[in-house]
Amino acid sequence: MTNTIFLPDPESATRWCESRKIDRNTIGMVPTMGALHAGHLSLVSRAVKENDICVVSIFVNPLQFNEKEDYKAYPRDRQMDHRMLENAGCNMVFSGTLDQFFPEAENPEDIRMLDPGPFAVGLEDEHRPGHFAGVRTIVDRLFDTVRPTRAYFGEKDFQQSLVIKDLAKQKGFPQIIVCATERESGGLAMSSRNRLLNDNEKKRAAGIYRALGNARNAWRSGVRTSGSLRESMTNELKLANLDIEYATIRDPQTWGEPDDNQPLGRAQALIAVRLGEVRLIDNLRLDTSRVD
Ligand code: AMP
Repeated sequence: MTNTIFLPDPESATRWCESRKIDRNTIGMVPTMGALHAGHLSLVSRAVKENDICVVSIFVNPLQFNEKEDYKAYPRDRQMDHRMLENAGCNMVFSGTLDQFFPEAENPEDIRMLDPGPFAVGLEDEHRPGHFAGVRTIVDRLFDTVRPTRAYFGEKDFQQSLVIKDLAKQKGFPQIIVCATERESGGLAMSSRNRLLNDNEKKRAAGIYRALGNARNAWRSGVRTSGSLRESMTNELKLANLDIEYATIRDPQTWGEPDDNQPLGRAQALIAVRLGEVRLIDNLRLDTSRVD
């Protein structure tokens, strides 16, 4: 078990990281919103393995929530988070308040929001307006706080990973590592929000992964058009009685939206659904032999 240091504000986190860098240590960073699960820990394990030092941030960032209720209901469990991080070998975890992250702004409204860039267009941002501006703004600040060598993000939030890669490219650091999605035994992608589901909702939520699996099977059997791939997903989602926000296909590299009948060489299937108050997202690369 590692003796994980907890620092309550970004200023002390910067000082701590600076002092570690004197010895040319590499720092791997995992930004999170807490309520940690095995998905987060897979990122932490990889950061521990590939760097001298692993730093995790826990901050439920109000800038990226477009619904106040969703922000309030977001699960928080700091004690458990710290225990899990100690077991996972994290060296330092830090947090802070919005004021502490943006001391230059007198009020939250004065925070200068970043343009989220070209990959923010559509899907998530359509259903959560302003979400990626909030994500890009906080992640930019987290990167400046730690100045990590590498930062680890989950493929589960696929569109977010594109937005963050674009940010890192613009800043010139850090190297972005995107890690595979960890799933429950029925295929449901692990998510902090799964805690908000009852047993029946969890069963229905497993339909998301079945829908993605249908699209991949369709791809493997030779289906290459976005319209047919979409249909293979929506049928399954409807069977599970899930409220669909989107179930669609994008080019994973360009984020282009294909025409319904244009044959594709690359395809990422992406889904967002609602079960009552809870919103869940997942995705799967179709043109791969990878098993996940
Ligand atoms: P969050 O706390 O939801 O902001 O997530 C923090 C990081 O963990 C993000 O980069 C997520 O994409 C990643 N993550 C969340 N769920 C999973 C999962 N099931 N498998 C792998 N990574 C995940």
